[in-house]
Amino acid sequence: MTAPLAILVLSMRGLETARRIKASIADSTILGLESRIEGADENFSDFGGTIREHYRSGHAIAALCSAGITIRSLAPILGNKGAEPPVLAIADDGSTVVPLLGGTTGVNVLARQIAQILGVTPAITTSGELRFGTCLLNPPPEFILKNPEDAKTFIADLLAGKTVRIEGDAPWLREAQLPLDDDGELVIRVTSAETTPQKGELIFQPSPATPDPVGQRRGRLAVIGLGPGDPDYMVPAVKRALQSAEDVLGYETYIHMAGPFRSDQTVHMTDNREEMQRARHAFELAATGRSVVMVSSGDPGVFAMAAAVIEALHESDNPAWHGVELEILPGVSAAMAAASRSGAPLGHDFCILSLSDNLKSWEVIEKRIALAAEADLAMAFYNPISKPRPWQLPRAIEILRQHRAPETPIVLGRDIGRPGETLRTITLAELDPEQVDMRTVVIIGSSHTRRFGRAGGGDWVYTPRWYGTKPAS
Ligand code: SAH
Repeated sequence: MTAPLAILVLSMRGLETARRIKASIADSTILGLESRIEGADENFSDFGGTIREHYRSGHAIAALCSAGITIRSLAPILGNKGAEPPVLAIADDGSTVVPLLGGTTGVNVLARQIAQILGVTPAITTSGELRFGTCLLNPPPEFILKNPEDAKTFIADLLAGKTVRIEGDAPWLREAQLPLDDDGELVIRVTSAETTPQKGELIFQPSPATPDPVGQRRGRLAVIGLGPGDPDYMVPAVKRALQSAEDVLGYETYIHMAGPFRSDQTVHMTDNREEMQRARHAFELAATGRSVVMVSSGDPGVFAMAAAVIEALHESDNPAWHGVELEILPGVSAAMAAASRSGAPLGHDFCILSLSDNLKSWEVIEKRIALAAEADLAMAFYNPISKPRPWQLPRAIEILRQHRAPETPIVLGRDIGRPGETLRTITLAELDPEQVDMRTVVIIGSSHTRRFGRAGGGDWVYTPRWYGTKPAS
């Protein structure tokens, strides 16, 4: 066991069991529910918040309560299987040990260890996958798996009987009892070269070395877009950048969306509104040879950090900053995500406007809305309304109504790709600022945008690709 173990206790009976576990496991801490437990190492009042905090910090977790409570508390933040710490539910009387999460980070090993302390048999459910999964997904720290997104299929293929050949030296696999064959269909490649994984191939690369102050390695800075929230909408290059990051910077909400992170990764959460300052901080870190990731939601180039980062570089004459390997990795922007859910309202020419007048004057915004409306562009409004900006959206709606018919379709996408997502289709006549908040993207149809009922309820909305007269088909 390498990660510290957090033992969460909700009852006095659980406390006794926790003490037995703690006595045999180094680096473990007993956390007790404040209102019920006396004598724990630390106390907490909010179970959900506490268990999620330890999960995000990469700590192993033993929850002395039902599997249901544990799963429900962690469900909102599950997603990045690569960085999942071990999580176990243990009956408070010590009669059952159930490994829940962390198959690739040793949960079953920990379950066996705790079960032995308690004198019971652990409820292990993944014995087959464990055999190959642990050794493949858990290389020693000198190596990283370059394409973790392919690992699930790879392991499934192995379990289904395919054989594998190893190219390069993978010392940690020597004892692994893999079905090796020089002509194996599957390939494990160990290389320091930049290669693109082929089908049926897992690539391991040496981990970036600790910077050496004399011959320092080149630092990296990736400005990444997470997409709207759902990890399925995150591009594989972004997932890889997150895996190999040493430092991760961004707003707290996005950091949580991007995590959990391993204990060897440093997270720099910030509420700092000063984008340029954050951009410079990222360069300062990367210029020391570190691998830095700057996190944005959606696409990093759409009202997010990419422009600030490049501007900071433009303004700098520090050669170390210009020597940083900088890349911008795109993401699915909120307008694209909401549009796809509703059909294709942005199917013809459109523009994206931010209604925030923090960085530009309201006059400019009004003018752009009026001109875009006159040009009959479909539009997507980002940052549509907030407490300090209550009157801007009503004014924008007024301008739209001067140019667009009352029945113009409007799509309101809120928290798209996140828990509690909602999507509504209404008309311009019905549009009321009360229906909109900062987590909403507002799509306004052009004069050609139409809607019709879907078989399963709701509407399809689309803007045809032709304009003026429909071409003969
Ligand atoms: N870079 C982000 C946009 C940042 S501006 C992107 O490309 O998506 C923030 C605004 O984006 C929010 O006020 C909201 O209008 C919109 N937005 C971001 N994520 C969203 C989501 N998941 N659902 C709906 N709107 C979202």
